[in-house]
Amino acid sequence: MKYQKLKKEAFHSMCRQCINEQYGLQLKTRDCYYLPYQELCSCCGNIRNIVADISRHSRWRLFFARQKKKP
Ligand SMILES: [Zn+2]
Repeated sequence: MKYQKLKKEAFHSMCRQCINEQYGLQLKTRDCYYLPYQELCSCCGNIRNIVADISRHSRWRLFFARQKKKP
């Protein structure tokens, strides 16, 4: 699967904590790029720093997490 498509499916205005929970990841603050403004997280409903992207060296974790869910 292409990363761009995966990214669209994975991040629906979600904060880092929710992405970590949903995908069983341990992304750190420095692993993520954020929107320049805070927004309502679609998952926990709090005003949070919304993840716009994951740094290149951490992207494989997202693929790995998906693979675990969908064998
Ligand atoms: Zn959240």
